[in-house]
Amino acid sequence: MDLFEYQGKQYFARYDIPVSPGGPADTVDEAVAAADAAGYPVVVKAQVQVGGRGKAGGIKLADNEAEVREHAGNILGMDIKGHVVRRVWVEAASDIDEEYYVSFTLDRSAKQHLMMLSAEGGVEIETVAEENPDAIVRLHIDPLDGLTDDVARRACIDAERPERAIDGATDILVKLYRCYDEGDCDLAEINPLILKPTGEVHALDAKVTLDGSAEFRHPEWEEFKGLTEMDEREQMAAEKDLQYIGLDGSVGIIANGAGLAMSTLDVVNQVGGAASNFLDIGGGADADVMAGALEVINFDETVKSIFINIFGGITRGEEVANGIVEALSRVDLRAPIVIRLDGTNAEEGRRILADAGIPESQLRSEPTMLDAARTAVSLAN
Ligand code: GDP
Ligand code: MN
Repeated sequence: MDLFEYQGKQYFARYDIPVSPGGPADTVDEAVAAADAAGYPVVVKAQVQVGGRGKAGGIKLADNEAEVREHAGNILGMDIKGHVVRRVWVEAASDIDEEYYVSFTLDRSAKQHLMMLSAEGGVEIETVAEENPDAIVRLHIDPLDGLTDDVARRACIDAERPERAIDGATDILVKLYRCYDEGDCDLAEINPLILKPTGEVHALDAKVTLDGSAEFRHPEWEEFKGLTEMDEREQMAAEKDLQYIGLDGSVGIIANGAGLAMSTLDVVNQVGGAASNFLDIGGGADADVMAGALEVINFDETVKSIFINIFGGITRGEEVANGIVEALSRVDLRAPIVIRLDGTNAEEGRRILADAGIPESQLRSEPTMLDAARTAVSLAN
């Protein structure tokens, strides 16, 4: 679950990480009330889950009520990279001496947490990684050891924080690690972390992704729900209990097993196409699951062809075939299906499909994964 900036800051505050006082607002009047409460000057910040809001005009300083009205009026309803702003966050403006970057994520290949620090804050870390990779300090943290004060201090010094920022930055690093670890985040990022002229160090932005698998032990996450921006397709899939991730290509993918689903994305890529999603219908998927999967894929208007890749183990070919026949009677599929059906009862499945009298324009069967990928990609193009 991705949080909005202001929710991320609320989460940070639970772990005692300093943030500016402020309030969320859905209307211009609410923005004025939030500004009055925070104290002028204020910053009016668009709440959308996409970076580079500043450059897009979604972050404005306001010295008085008239300016808050003007900026909140402009920002509410603004489209930032395809995200419409429904809410702003109004906080007390900060004076900035320096901007830094800090984050914690999981490095799966190293099986450790990864801490990243950079003296170049305020710019996207991907840009720094490209243009000035030496400016990034990376440090793995063993989950059993955690992050000690000494290690955090050393990292701040290595990242060339000035002397007067070291204590404050160290303190925030240790707290941010606690937030990330105990708070079950997949990502906790502050960009920029700022040094104020007064010497205080402070989180000016917040990017937090919560680990959905840990939801059972965080009743306090309830308040973040409903407001988060979920991909509509993912929401529909979640309601059907399907393992679905939306992507931006044009070939819809249905496979059984996460490994096969990922290989399917790779093969589609390899033959020059791009997948519109990842969808694993799991082992032993029956007709109903298949029909539900096709409904989710069909909901996505960017899908131009559907590649069903089944290697039956527990999943049985005739169930898959029945699901497709059932789905075709339930939904009016916009895109043609290409199926590669192999494994348990594949022949029976293929016979069911052949006997169903589905026109070739709607369903084609291919003998191998590669053939099927080629056909699906050519149909999508
Ligand atoms: P992002 O561009 O979407 O990541 O939004 P940020 O919250 O990181 O803000 C972008 C930039 O706006 C920051 O790097 C700052 O330079 C500037 N900014 C944001 N808040 C303030 C503030 O309170 N005071 C000042 N002077 N600048 C701010
Ligand atoms: Mn930022």
